Amino acid sequence: MLPFIDLQAQQARIKQGVDEAIQRVLAHGGYIMGPEVGELEEQLAQYTGSKHCIAMSSGTDALIAGLMALDVGPGDAIITTPFTFFATIESIMLCGATPIFADIEPDSFNISPEQIRAQIEFIQQHTDLTPRGIIPVDLYGLPADYEQINSIADQFGLFVLQDAAQSFGATRFGSHAPSHALLGTTSFFPAKPLGCYGDGGAVFTDDDRIAEALRSIRVHGKGEDKYDNVRVGLNARIDTLQAAILLEKLKIYPDEFESRQRHAAQYGLRLDALSADGQAIRQLIPEGAQSAWAQFVIRSDRRDSLSEALRESGIPTTVYYRTPSHQLKACRDLPSQGSFPRAEAAAREVLALPFHPYLTTEQINSICDAIESHLTEPAVSEQLASDAN
Ligand SMILES: *Cc1c(COP(=O)(O)O)cnc(C)c1O
Repeated sequence: MLPFIDLQAQQARIKQGVDEAIQRVLAHGGYIMGPEVGELEEQLAQYTGSKHCIAMSSGTDALIAGLMALDVGPGDAIITTPFTFFATIESIMLCGATPIFADIEPDSFNISPEQIRAQIEFIQQHTDLTPRGIIPVDLYGLPADYEQINSIADQFGLFVLQDAAQSFGATRFGSHAPSHALLGTTSFFPAKPLGCYGDGGAVFTDDDRIAEALRSIRVHGKGEDKYDNVRVGLNARIDTLQAAILLEKLKIYPDEFESRQRHAAQYGLRLDALSADGQAIRQLIPEGAQSAWAQFVIRSDRRDSLSEALRESGIPTTVYYRTPSHQLKACRDLPSQGSFPRAEAAAREVLALPFHPYLTTEQINSICDAIESHLTEPAVSEQLASDAN
C-alpha cells in the first residue's frame, strides 16, 4: 500500500535537527512555556504577517479560546459550514452558543457568502438568537472567500474567525492564512500541512486586546501571574517540546509548500482530462488563491466503487467528511435551520487521494492511471443498482 500521508520521508530529512532541538529542551528543562514557545510564535507571526501569534495545545483549543476571547456564549448564533471537521462545531457548542449552518459553494467546498446572508436573515426572523460571528473553514487548505465574508460581517457587525486548521500559509491575493480575518486559528496535528509530533495549535490576530485575552485564557485566565486569576480560562499551552519540533519543521515548510503546489498541478492536469459534462472532478481553486493542499480531493458519483478499486490497486483514499455536521448525532438538538443539499452531495461524492510533499511524479501518474481506468469503465455495479430500482 502506498502511504496516504508520508510522515517518515519528512522525518528522515529533518531528523538530526529535531533530535538536537529535543536535546536542547531536555537540557534547559523549561518544559512548560520554555523559550522555544516565544520563538515559534514570533516566527509564525512573521510568516503569516500577523501582529500576534498565541500558540495553543491544539487546533480545537485554539478555536475554543478564540471564541472565549470574543465573549461568545449562550444566546449567540455563530454561522459556520456544515462541511467541516466536528471541532469547528464543537467549539461553538462548548461555549454555549448555537451553530447556524450556511451551505457550501459547489466547486470550492467552502462556505457560500450568499448562504451566509440568507442565514443571517433566518436568525433574525426565526430565532431569539443574536447573530454574533462567522467561522469559515478553509477546507482541504483552500482559504474561503474572505473579501465577501468580511464585508458581510462588517455590514451586520459580526466577527469573522478563520478556521485555518488545514490551511496554514495558504494565500488569498498574496496574504497568508490565517491572517484573513479578525482572528484565525490553525492546528499542528501531525497530518496537517504544518504538523508537530503530538497535538498543537495557534491563534493569530492583529488585535492587541484579543491577543492579551488569549494569553490569559491559555493559562487559567491569569492576570499578573497564574495565581492572579482574572477570568475563567483553560490550560491550553503548547508543549515546549512541540514548539521546538515545529521550529525545525518550519525551516523546510516553504520548500514543502512549493512541492505541494507542483504535485497538485500535476494531479490537476491529469484529472481535468477526465471531467465529464463540464462537472469538475476536483476541488477548484479560484483566481487569486493558493491552497496549502492539506488534502487533494476529487468528487465522483461513483465515489465508493472508485475508492474500492483504488484500494485493490494498493492506493489508499479517505473521505473527509462522510456525514455533514447537521446530520451528526451530536447536533440532533440544534434548532431546525433549513437544508444543505450541496454539503450533502459533497459528503456523498468526495474522495481524498494520497497527498504529501514527498510524492513522486511516477506515483501521481500511477494513481491517475488507476482512477482513469475505473472511471472510463462502464459503471457495472451502479448500473445494476439503478436497474434494480
Ligand atoms: C483538524 C481540525 C481542527 C482541530 O484541530 P486539532 O489540532 O486536531 O484539535 C479544527 N478544524 C478543522 C477544520 C480541522 O481540520
